[in-house]
Amino acid sequence: MGRYLGPQCRLCRAEGAKLYLKGDRCNSDKCPVTKRKGMPGKGPRARLRKKSDYGLQLREKQKVKRIYGMLEKQFKIFFMKAERMRGITGDNLIQLLERRLDNIVYRMHFASSRKEARQLISHGHIMVNGRKVDISSFLVRENDEIEVREKSKKLLFIKESLKEYSRSGVSPWLTVDPDKVWGQVRAIPRRNDVTDIADVNEQLIVELYSK
Ligand code: SF4
Repeated sequence: MGRYLGPQCRLCRAEGAKLYLKGDRCNSDKCPVTKRKGMPGKGPRARLRKKSDYGLQLREKQKVKRIYGMLEKQFKIFFMKAERMRGITGDNLIQLLERRLDNIVYRMHFASSRKEARQLISHGHIMVNGRKVDISSFLVRENDEIEVREKSKKLLFIKESLKEYSRSGVSPWLTVDPDKVWGQVRAIPRRNDVTDIADVNEQLIVELYSK
């Protein structure tokens, strides 16, 4: 499946928000969004223009798609799956996105970004319940155990990523043992548990796809 290969920061600037696409580096002063650079390719007043309802809905979808590193077709499949589930479609969508293996590997700090997590997975470094899984969109379940393959545990960039565990810990619905480079999904998160995307309004995405 094709992927966006351009500059990551450009995507954040287009949304006017930090999407944390470059992992730890996003916390540095060099982040263009922190420095308040304007939208890519537009004048400094571009963001001041009032957006239509459709424009707002579209931007929200783009933002979430970019946070989780997905292309339109796969995102739509996730949305349709969320619609078929019981409960609130927007909450279901975020829950499904959080269950993606690349997201879990990133949240366990085995990789410093979701993009890096996808590389780890596609190169066969990740095991789920003792079996290699090389599909980033694989949906984890409660109690699943995620582990870096034995001979990959010494990889320098994994060790570097794990330093973030001692700095910020891990989401309460996950458990991580950094020495074993192992983790477990203690529970499937509810919408309120996903605090770092608290400003995302998934209802706008539901409205967009309901047209
Ligand atoms: Fe770039 Fe990260 Fe800042 Fe986004 S949050 S603009 S990816 S440095």
